[in-house]
Amino acid sequence: MVKFDVRQLRYLSREEFRCLVSLEMGMKNHEIVPSELIASIANLRHGGCYKILRDLVQYKLIRYDHRNGIRGYHLTYAGYDYLALRSFSNQNVVYSIGNRIGVGKESDIYIAASEDGTQYVLKLHRLGRICFRKVKEKRDYLKRRKNASWLYLSRLAAEREFSFLKALHDRGYPVPEPLAWNRHAIVMKLIPGYPLSQVNEITNTAKVYTKLMQLIVRLAQMGLIHGDFNEFNLMIDDKEKITVIDLPQMISTSHENAAYYFDRDVECIRTWFKKRYDFDSDDRPYLSDIICETPVDVEMKASGYTKDIKDDFENLSLNKPKEEMWTDMSDEDSEDSEEEEDIEEEEEIESESEEHQPDSGEEGDKSVKESAVETGKS
Ligand code: ADP
Ligand code: MG
Repeated sequence: MVKFDVRQLRYLSREEFRCLVSLEMGMKNHEIVPSELIASIANLRHGGCYKILRDLVQYKLIRYDHRNGIRGYHLTYAGYDYLALRSFSNQNVVYSIGNRIGVGKESDIYIAASEDGTQYVLKLHRLGRICFRKVKEKRDYLKRRKNASWLYLSRLAAEREFSFLKALHDRGYPVPEPLAWNRHAIVMKLIPGYPLSQVNEITNTAKVYTKLMQLIVRLAQMGLIHGDFNEFNLMIDDKEKITVIDLPQMISTSHENAAYYFDRDVECIRTWFKKRYDFDSDDRPYLSDIICETPVDVEMKASGYTKDIKDDFENLSLNKPKEEMWTDMSDEDSEDSEEEEDIEEEEEIESESEEHQPDSGEEGDKSVKESAVETGKS
């Protein structure tokens, strides 16, 4: 499903790369970026730029489109993936991409490896992969929040998840250790074991249940509620050690509906244990009994992450329809709202494009090696 050919990491020419990042920059303020604007940001002659854009369309990194009377280009998921992966590659974080191990509603998960062969998990957020009906239902929301494009939301989700992973991991809470974040992508440690949803039998059922309740309580003591604490987002290994994953939707215990979301997390576990392990217990925590001792402050002020955006984002993620299949709309899913993102990446992009001087022959710049193969499901 990911139309991402890693070989292009090697073979994209300097001008092609320049056009790609220029389009990304143009997308801060435009849903569709006219080729003239791309050419001017890229500082290329329009004629030359036009040919390059056509090639980029062929590589499926960008798409030609028209909306609201404007004709031009926008990035595809593959194009955005490309930019993030290229950055990871240049930071020597990721050397190769392997099998896809998970396809969530809002992400694609791949095995990645560093140069020494250590395996990691690459999570590409796909927040715009909402089916169009749902987009329509959320239109009011999107109109109010003009920034809500798939690119923006996916990036925000990745940033949030990375920040939460880091804050929690630093405090000894069992989450995967995060390594790097770029755009809508994060790289984290690979957790051995399986999602609880795939585990039919547990040796110490009561013990694991208690552990999970303790994990919910410990989060609340840090001022947080997972918001999606269920069998799909809990990894369990052979020793029945639990690791909590999938954090972008976490909310604060000071949220007005905190008790509701807290109870929902608790009930998810209780229901699962009853259904799958025939285990029932009245022993369950209540938010009102928990004292917040060491609040984790993951305010992402650095990137213009205002309270407004935070509230809107939380509403969007918490109200997401669980049962609803989020179809792969790939590139068709941008909303008709204007983007005015405050992605503060201009400098980074510029320096990146400077760094990436041309492919001198076959090798070009450092490559992320291939075989983005699709397999199994989460
Ligand atoms: P989504 O938001 O799409 O649900 P998740 O973070 O829950 O994404 O990941 C989807 C699946 O990918 C998980 O159910 C799990 O099987 C796998 N996965 C995600 N992160 C890791 C990790 N760090 N280690 C091992 N497997 C992981
Ligand atoms: Mg999940």
